[in-house]
Amino acid sequence: MTKLSGNPLITITDQLADEKQAILASIIAELEDAVISSTTKGIITTWNPAAEKMFGYTEAEALGKSISLIIPQNKSAEKNYILGQILLGKKVAHFDTFRIAKDRHQVPVSITVSPIRNNKGMIIGASKIVKDISDRQLANEKQAILAAIVATSDDAIVSKTLQGIITSWNQAAVRTFGYTEEEAIGKHISLIIPPDRLSEEDFIIGQIAKGKKVDHFETVRRHKDGREVHLSVTVSPVVSSSGTIIGASKVARDVTAIKHAAEKQGMLAAIVGSSDDTIVSKTLEGIITSWNQAAEKMFGYTEAEALGQHISLIIPPERLNEEKFIIGEVSKGNKVDHFETVRVAKGGRQVPISLSVSPIIDENGKIIGASKIARDISEHLAVQEEKARLYDEIKELNDKKDEFIGLASHELKTPLTSIQGYLQILNNDMSEERRKDFLNRASRQIKKLNDLVSDLLDISKIQAGKLQFTLATLDLCQVTRDAIELIAYSNQTHRVVLKTELETLPIQGDAQRIEQVILNLLTNAIRYSPGKYEVEVHLSQENGLAKLSVRDQGIGIPADKLEQIFSRFYRVTENKNISGLGLGLYLSQQIVERHHGHIWAESTPGEGSVFYFTLPIKAS
Ligand code: ADP
Repeated sequence: MTKLSGNPLITITDQLADEKQAILASIIAELEDAVISSTTKGIITTWNPAAEKMFGYTEAEALGKSISLIIPQNKSAEKNYILGQILLGKKVAHFDTFRIAKDRHQVPVSITVSPIRNNKGMIIGASKIVKDISDRQLANEKQAILAAIVATSDDAIVSKTLQGIITSWNQAAVRTFGYTEEEAIGKHISLIIPPDRLSEEDFIIGQIAKGKKVDHFETVRRHKDGREVHLSVTVSPVVSSSGTIIGASKVARDVTAIKHAAEKQGMLAAIVGSSDDTIVSKTLEGIITSWNQAAEKMFGYTEAEALGQHISLIIPPERLNEEKFIIGEVSKGNKVDHFETVRVAKGGRQVPISLSVSPIIDENGKIIGASKIARDISEHLAVQEEKARLYDEIKELNDKKDEFIGLASHELKTPLTSIQGYLQILNNDMSEERRKDFLNRASRQIKKLNDLVSDLLDISKIQAGKLQFTLATLDLCQVTRDAIELIAYSNQTHRVVLKTELETLPIQGDAQRIEQVILNLLTNAIRYSPGKYEVEVHLSQENGLAKLSVRDQGIGIPADKLEQIFSRFYRVTENKNISGLGLGLYLSQQIVERHHGHIWAESTPGEGSVFYFTLPIKAS
């Protein structure tokens, strides 16, 4: 109070009772607002403690100074305006501006200036109540910042009343839901809620009304164009300054893309899981990090057994260096495709596989492992081997066929050419004797042709499984004698001698076919012993078998070919000059074996051959 003594304000209130004055002075001293008075000339006459605090000048420093002390230089227009109003006897209320403190910092203020009159009613000065509005300014700035954050947020931020009426709608909400701010504000929030999810809103509002927050609630909302938007929503109560809940603010994050990614990931996982191909992944150090069902089946280890193990679990020791190669390639970012190799299953069983290995790359582009797709190729290998075998077989048959066609056409043509020649000669005038001779020759060639064609027919019958036998009991001695007689008739070069102690030798068979076998052996013996004169036939019985042999003194057969001469179309290359199709012995073997017999040959090249066959004797 003493502070105020001598203050001009007191001089203008000297009419007032001392007590009243003292009360006023103490109020002014205690006020949080700066109270300053000045003369009409702008000389400061009052400066309360709040003014000291606000502007940094003590009362002693301020009193008697011009009010310009605290008015920024560029505010002279403002100063004149206020002074003008005061001189007119008017009040300037809540004028927001700023003043300068002693330390030159700007103080945002709200000023109310009133004229001061003397007891004659003359305006003698002005009183100013100056309110520091720095806090308000700060709050405004803060609000502006918050508004900017909300406006620029990537998340949709929406607020609504407890009745669900939308009260704010940021840019991201515009993007997320397709409605502009004008379209959305004032509307009910059901604007963006699919009908089947309206009950969710009741739940959310219920929580909010209780003052609770709803966090990361995953749901679906509807875009203006009808499409579904997957959101993660956080809803918080909006509380008024008086503490009542007046609405809710929602922050909604569009998780459609994440949802799709998750769905895609789920789908990929399902594909890997159900794939028929083995899919395994591992780190670059070879530690198994995934193992699908097909891998369990192929290698016999369960997922639990395989995860965390080194991949050498399934690599045969001798193939461990393959792994080095594969990891080397994968580390360079290369793929290893269709690498055929072998792995070992749980029990030690070897599994031939075709392997494709690709690098696994993380989101930063770093190679962090390898994924392998393995396909069991055991079956494939078996099929391939079978194919290769069939191919070889077909190729061999095809070669034989080509060779045979060449041979057959030659063999068939030769007798025809001869016959044609003899018939031409016959056509000319010639003696009876020569005519007979040529007719004989012609008929021999016809027989040869006939035999060839018969052999060919037999072959095709065997091929088709249609070679039929007419079985009867027959005497092998008789059949042999008949065959020798037939040969003697058509052959002039060799003598065929039958050596046997037997009168009869009963067997069960087709007489014509057995004779065909004997004739074939005799013909061969004669054909393959050029320059020799004798062929010996033996008939005997041994251990219940009838045995026949044909011995010649001919060219013989090399030991390594003795087996093969019974194959179809097989001819010993050394005797190319002797004609033939390589069918006779094959047919003979077929006939003998179908009579439950056996046929073979023994030979010494250059000395001759012996052909044998045995047949079961028919018990009488
Ligand atoms: P082809 O005599 O028509 O060639 P075969 O099947 O009767 O057919 O005989 C097969 C092959 O066996 C003959 O090409 C020949 O090389 C050889 N061969 C058969 N019999 C004799 C034999 N008695 N002496 C030497 N080689 C023979």
